Amino acid sequence: MTTGRYAPSPSGRMHLGNLMCCLLAWLSAKSKGGQVLLRIEDLDAQRCPRRYADAIIDDLAWLGLAADGPEPPVYQSERSAVYAQYFEELARRGLVYPCFCSRSQLHAASAPHRSDGQVVYAGTCRNLTAAEIAEKSKTRAPAWRVCVPDEVIAFEDGHIGPCAENLARDCGDFYLRRADGVFAYQLAVVVDDALMGVNEVVRGSDLLSSTARQLWLYRELGLRAPQFYHLPLLLASDGRRLSKRDGDQSLEHLRTRYSPEEIIGRLAFACGLQNRPTPATPQDLARTFDWAKVPKNDIVLPEGLF
Ligand code: GLU
Repeated sequence: MTTGRYAPSPSGRMHLGNLMCCLLAWLSAKSKGGQVLLRIEDLDAQRCPRRYADAIIDDLAWLGLAADGPEPPVYQSERSAVYAQYFEELARRGLVYPCFCSRSQLHAASAPHRSDGQVVYAGTCRNLTAAEIAEKSKTRAPAWRVCVPDEVIAFEDGHIGPCAENLARDCGDFYLRRADGVFAYQLAVVVDDALMGVNEVVRGSDLLSSTARQLWLYRELGLRAPQFYHLPLLLASDGRRLSKRDGDQSLEHLRTRYSPEEIIGRLAFACGLQNRPTPATPQDLARTFDWAKVPKNDIVLPEGLF
């Protein structure tokens, strides 16, 4: 059985880009007779007040996209003890080390950059001695990184096709835990998807560059990896990336102007799932859903559609 998931980060109300991701996750799972689970990615609890998570749950239900469980949903902010077990497992195998680099050290002009604009970590703290670690710990709490191999991780994305990344060259050793103790998204997402039995992940192509790291973690932790589908990004009609700052594209605003069927139907039109922006329910769309209809390049919202 296909088990998909919604994994929103509730740092604000959903916008159309978040909704496109939820709609396609729902359609992809439901068109195969599957289910969709809900996990609230509020690792950074300060930035993710519970009222936004509640609003997302309410918006999904209003749109006809309610998750099939669990009830209550999984909240990452409550799962540090679970992530700690997997972190410890990697640490016991000598794969984890403390990193004392400051932001300015990391962003030195000479640092090579990854495809997503982040810095490839140079490995500065990889081989510190115990004495050096003790000394540095006196003035700074470290973050924790995992040692990646010089190895190409290749995978077949269900929408984009073949992808590959050399972890050492294209990414470098990455964070598992921040200096303030919060576990990193990369670790939490792998542990949670595996423990929730998720076998299909639909998400934005901004996360494509995280996938090789996550597949490697699945392998190292002996967990079964899901099939990934990466979606094009939804851009505003002037070509900018939609963000939580685009208030008029937020569900809070859209709900005052349109019915659920109007929102779903127009969005389905923008993502190639129907020929006209006529009202539709998710069930209507599931009957004819096919990944081949969804564009592979970023989608620009037609002017005046919303
Ligand atoms: N929480 C992430 C977001 O809202 C999604 C993470 C994922 O799908 O792996 O962008």
